[in-house]
Amino acid sequence: MANSTAAAADPLPHHPNFHPSFSPPSSPSQSSSSTPSSAAELITVLNPATADPLATISATPATTIAALVAHANEQFRQGAWARADASERFRVLARAGVLIRERMAELVDLEVKQTGRPVREMTAQLGRVGEWFDYFASLARTHQDDSTPFKGPVLNVLKCQPLGVCALITPWNHPVLIASKKLAAALAAGNVVILKPSELAPLSVLKLGEILREAGLPDGTLSIVNGYGRETGKFLCEAKGLAKIDLTGGLATYEAVAPTAARNLTGLTAELGGKAPVCIFQSVGAEKGVRAALFASFIAAGQTCVTGSRLLVHERIYDEFKEVLVRRVAALRVGHPRDEHTQVGALINDAAVQRCSSFIRKAEEEGDVILCGGKPTSVDGRGYFFEPTVVETQRKSFLSCHEVFGPVIALIRCKDEDDIVRTANDSAFALGASVWTDDFAQAHRVADKIDAGVVWVNGHHLNDPSSPWGGWKESGMGKENGVEAFESYTKVKSVVFNYGIEPSWFDEVGAGTRYG
Ligand code: NDP
Repeated sequence: MANSTAAAADPLPHHPNFHPSFSPPSSPSQSSSSTPSSAAELITVLNPATADPLATISATPATTIAALVAHANEQFRQGAWARADASERFRVLARAGVLIRERMAELVDLEVKQTGRPVREMTAQLGRVGEWFDYFASLARTHQDDSTPFKGPVLNVLKCQPLGVCALITPWNHPVLIASKKLAAALAAGNVVILKPSELAPLSVLKLGEILREAGLPDGTLSIVNGYGRETGKFLCEAKGLAKIDLTGGLATYEAVAPTAARNLTGLTAELGGKAPVCIFQSVGAEKGVRAALFASFIAAGQTCVTGSRLLVHERIYDEFKEVLVRRVAALRVGHPRDEHTQVGALINDAAVQRCSSFIRKAEEEGDVILCGGKPTSVDGRGYFFEPTVVETQRKSFLSCHEVFGPVIALIRCKDEDDIVRTANDSAFALGASVWTDDFAQAHRVADKIDAGVVWVNGHHLNDPSSPWGGWKESGMGKENGVEAFESYTKVKSVVFNYGIEPSWFDEVGAGTRYG
C-alpha cells in the first residue's frame, strides 16, 4: 500500500478538506477540520517517484459525510447557485478557466509530485483544462429550453433544471482533468457538488476547489472530501439525498456503488476501464504505425483508461512493425518526472508495480513472448517504476482480455481487416479504439464496425470538452463532455401552458370536450 497512516508529530504539510460553509459535527473523530485531532484521521500522500511522503490529508468519517450531504441539500434549496442566472454561472466558470491558466505552474507541480507522471505530460494536459470551464460556461449561458408540437392551444415548454446534490468520485491518474470534466458540467447545470478525489492524488484537486472559490462560486456549492474509497467514498455514495453519482474508476468500484444507487434511485454515470485496441493497417507503414503505438500505449506509463493496450497489426507489416517497436520501446527514457527529458514516469504505487509483474508471470505461463521490458525498475534506486514492456500474444490470452493499467502492452498479429475488427471487438470493454489507415473507405468501414464509445481515426487520446466521452459494455455508461454531459446533470420538467381549453368536462356532455 503506497499510503499509510502518519505519526501524530508528522511535520508534513496538511491539506484540509474543502467545504467553506460547512462545520463538521463535533465528535472525537472530527476529521474534516483543518487541524485533525488524531493521527488515525491522517492519510499520508506519497510521491511515487521517490516513495517520499508529500503531505497529509484528513479521512472524512461517515457522520461528517451525512451532515455534509444534508448541508449540501440545504444549499441547493436556498438556490444561491441552483437559481443563479445563467449569465452568473457563465461569469464564474469562465473566470475559473482564467484562474486555472494563471495557476498552471502550481497545479503542474502538485500533479507531477503526487502522480509521478512526467512534467512534460502534465504541462500539456493541464494546459487545456481551462477549456473545460470555458466550454461549460458557454453552455450554461447558451443552452435553450425546448418546446413540443403539443396539440391544440397549448404551449409545452421543456425546462432543464439542475438535479440537486451530485457526488463526483474521481481517480488518481488525471486528477485535475477528470475532476474538471465532471465539475464543469455539474456546476454549469446549477448543481451542488461533493467531490471525492482519490486519496492517492488529492492535492491538486483541493487546489482546484480554492480556485473555484476565488472565481466566485458561492460557498456551499462545492465541497471536496478526502479519505479512502472503501470508507469515505462508500459513505458518500451511500448517503441519502444524492441526486446523482458520477464515478470514474474500476468495475469493482462500480459494482460496490451501483446497488445502493439503485436502491436510492440515484442516477449514475460510470466511466470505467478499457482495453483499447490500436488497429494498424498496412497502408500506414511500420514506422508511422510504431509512432502511433508508442503514444497510444506509453503515455502516462499506460495508466489511462484508453491506453492502447492491444496493438492489432496487419500481418503484411507485422514483422517490420515488431522490430521497430521493440527498438523504440527499449529506448524510451524512464526517468524522474521532474526531468523534462523523461518520457515514462512512475507508476502510482507499489501495488501497481506488483500488478504489472503478475501480468508478466501469467503471460510467461501461457507461453507469450516478452519482447522487451518485463521487470520493475527504479530511478536513482527509488520509486515505483516498471519497464515499458511489449508482449507478443494472441487475442484470447489473459493479457489481451484484462486491463493492466500500466506499461505492459499486448502485440497481436492479425491476418486481415476482418480479423482486426473481430479481435478489437472480442473484449468485455468498449471505451476507446484507434484505427490507423491511409485508406479512406477502410477508415469509415472499420470505425463503423468497432464497438467503442470513442473511435479515433489516425489519432489516439484526442479529447475535447465538446466531444462526448464514455464507454459501453464493461467500460461503463453515460458520457462526460459535450451537451450530453451537461444535460445528464439536468432533469427535464415539462411545463404545459393552456391558453384555450376550458375546464368544462363536467359542465356538459358532448363531442369535442377534450380530456387529455
Ligand atoms: P478505483 O475504482 O479504485 O478508484 C476510483 C475512485 O473510486 C477513487 O476515488 C477511489 O477512492 C474511489 N472508490 C474506491 N472504492 C470505492 C467505493 N467502494 N465507494 C466509493 N468510492 C470508491 O480506480 P483507480 O483509482 O484505481 O483508477 C483506475 C480505474 O479507473 C481503471 O479501471 C481505469 O480504467 C478507470 N478509469 C476510467 C476512465 C474513463 O474515463 N473511463 C479514466 C481514468 C480511469 P480511493 O482511490 O481514495 O480509494
